[in-house]
Amino acid sequence: MLKKWFEIPLWQRVVGALILGIVTGLLWGPGAESIKWIGDFFIASIKMLVVPLIFFSLVSGVAAIGDLRKLGSVGGRALLLFVVTGQIAVWLGLAMGTMFAPGSGLSVELPEGAVIPEPNPVSPTEMILSMVPESPVQVMADVQVLPLIVFALLVGIGILMAKEEGDPVAKIFDSGAIIMQKVTMVVMELTPFGVFALMAWVAGTFGWEALLPLAKVVALNYAGCLIIIFVMYSAMIKFLAKTSVRGFFRGIIDAMAVSYSTASSNATLPVTLRCAQRNLGVSPSVSSFVISLGATINMNGTAMYLGLVTLFGAQIYGVELGVAEYLLISVLATLGAIGAAGIPGAGLIMMSLVFTAVGVPLETIAFVAGIDRIMDMMRTTTNVSGDAAVATTVASMTGELDKAELVSADDI
Ligand code: ASP
Repeated sequence: MLKKWFEIPLWQRVVGALILGIVTGLLWGPGAESIKWIGDFFIASIKMLVVPLIFFSLVSGVAAIGDLRKLGSVGGRALLLFVVTGQIAVWLGLAMGTMFAPGSGLSVELPEGAVIPEPNPVSPTEMILSMVPESPVQVMADVQVLPLIVFALLVGIGILMAKEEGDPVAKIFDSGAIIMQKVTMVVMELTPFGVFALMAWVAGTFGWEALLPLAKVVALNYAGCLIIIFVMYSAMIKFLAKTSVRGFFRGIIDAMAVSYSTASSNATLPVTLRCAQRNLGVSPSVSSFVISLGATINMNGTAMYLGLVTLFGAQIYGVELGVAEYLLISVLATLGAIGAAGIPGAGLIMMSLVFTAVGVPLETIAFVAGIDRIMDMMRTTTNVSGDAAVATTVASMTGELDKAELVSADDI
């Protein structure tokens, strides 16, 4: 029995668990919350890996890149792709929001029990300051991903600068990275159980009644995310990375299922890394660098959603928005997506940044807060797939992609 279980490829067990979880939740109803703890246990187990995995893999990855010029070319390409895809995503959200006007005709009465959130925008200076790891130990203890990346990058650069004298430490990090990958493999065996419990909880708790009045915005959020994933990323993989689109999606299916059920890019990070290295053939150095960075700053689903929901709010409250406001939204939504942490509901907090700037009432947040999880799951899947797509593309451009590995993803 146990042998049979392990004979089924992990991704099939995960997808099966996802579907079974939804069915169970729909049949069981709110009672399904009683098994949410299994999902929380799973999330805690993968979160446990985030700090050591980023630290070991990133330091060893930077050291393996070999020279600073190459590091710059990998980083530069990744950042360019993050920004360009982010902008396309926001404009897609704006275009859909304008064409389909999900907020017009909706009454301005807030849903029952809605709480108007406190505005909590992060200023650009705060964002820059938060990248400096005042105490690396503190940063690790608090799982602050961005300053941890900065610290790991610097340690890696230090190893490169120290040349032969840095070798012993580089070896320790290499070995640490391999060990952490093995630990990830073990923890990932929990995935089907975690995904099942989380999906049952979501499907059982969010009734149709809460969804129906906002069905249009939910549908647009899903449509936009699917367009980003299957059109934009497919095009990137086909034309820029010049490799198999089918193999790519086959390779990241675990990361997609985990991001969909956890709604957290950070929690999915160990899985995304493993998929990129093992199934897509992205070199450890490029994948650890691009994916760790992407998990915190590359959020195309969130960017698209921020554009869409700002128009939604403007339509509910009759706020007129002109070309200047659209441009402002495109810049702020991109910044909001960069600033949003890779945790559930982060995009919701970022709304206040965009809304305040263009005069959309913050009450709009209360409209969507109740069903945000359903939309968050889809935008997180978009964010995570984007990290893998950019990593694959950058790896292909810099000769760090083992295409044979990706094409053989058929037999994962
Ligand atoms: N939950 C998303 C993520 O982790 C962020 C968001 O709320 O949009 O990628």
